[in-house]
Amino acid sequence: PPPRSGEDLRKDFPGLTPGWHYLDTAATAQKPQAVIDATVAAMGRDYATVHRGVYARSADMTLAYEAARRRIAGFIGAREEQVAFVRGATEAINLVAYAHPKKGRVLLSVLEHHSNIVPWQLAGWQVDVCPLTDDGRIDLDAAERLLTSEHNMVALAHVSNVLGSPLDVARAADLAHRVGAELLIDGCQAVPRLPVDVSALGCDYYAFSGHKLYGPTGVGVLWSDKLDALPPWQGGGSMIDRVTFAKTTYAPAPTRFEAGTPAIIEALGLAAAVDYVDAIGLDAIHAHECALVGRLREALARKNSVRLFGPENSAGIVSFAMAGVHPHDIGTILDESGVAIRAGHHCAQPLMEHLGVPATARASFGLYSNEDDVTALIEGLARVERIFG
Ligand code: PMP
Repeated sequence: PPPRSGEDLRKDFPGLTPGWHYLDTAATAQKPQAVIDATVAAMGRDYATVHRGVYARSADMTLAYEAARRRIAGFIGAREEQVAFVRGATEAINLVAYAHPKKGRVLLSVLEHHSNIVPWQLAGWQVDVCPLTDDGRIDLDAAERLLTSEHNMVALAHVSNVLGSPLDVARAADLAHRVGAELLIDGCQAVPRLPVDVSALGCDYYAFSGHKLYGPTGVGVLWSDKLDALPPWQGGGSMIDRVTFAKTTYAPAPTRFEAGTPAIIEALGLAAAVDYVDAIGLDAIHAHECALVGRLREALARKNSVRLFGPENSAGIVSFAMAGVHPHDIGTILDESGVAIRAGHHCAQPLMEHLGVPATARASFGLYSNEDDVTALIEGLARVERIFG
């Protein structure tokens, strides 16, 4: 089929109501009708449990669930047995932090989301922190100096949820592996905006959430080519081989990590989202978002009252502050003009401290964002300037 234009794509998203400028896709993406239809069918006509039933409907659902796993694995260049369904990136990172047999030292960075900080602390890892470059990228030269043979893990965001900074994952993997550490990548913000091929990146674990990839909430992925080396984390139904009171043995990965009835409907919805995104192409989505980021950064740079954060090549995300105006006030005034941005610490309080601000205003784009959204934001900010004098 011929490539579809942005306006054409917007019609696929019932959540994009007329006159509303949704600039919070980094928090969660709107859902295309194809994803809604897939979840409705999975919850209605096709609904049954997986892995248990002997009747045809359940067998069909099991096939569909495993086909969803295969589809999502293929989308990131992986094999199906390397993909565990989890609730989201948060659960994926908790899983590795808790299940890992060597809970030693982990190197994180200043810009990490709380979900890539707190699990390591809770699970008892010793946390070291890599600084950022002046333009807000993870400073891999500093990481090279900080890493020692005592580190067993490096855990970094592929794309920052606040600054949009993309990471050179191949170099990070090389640095981690040189000292014998593994690399976990938090791919939450990368998977919806950059082509991701885990087999080429060189990382050991890759985590992401379905709802940021235009899929449902409640499902996400932990990829690893060494899932078999991880002991189980949560116990329950489905994850076992044989249970006795004397000794329990476990199913092979990835089933070993899917205790209990899984998010069946959501997994099928995520596979539909992957189909949808793939049909447009991540190269096209990335180019589209880069053009919008360029336009917005240029317009913001012209405003004297605005402080702009993050590097020029931010992927889909632009954070800023306005002199004398709290980001919450910016967000509230913009909302009155039908412009939805995020204002706050974005679950990255150490980064806010590093930037010397309590919060930022953040605009983030998706495949359906357009120039009108940017114009509405800029006009809304002019109104903020008028109100605050
Ligand atoms: N990491 C990053 C970079 C994120 O942007 C988010 C979501 N804001 C998360 C992790 C956590 O994702 P979830 O809440 O879907 O588990």
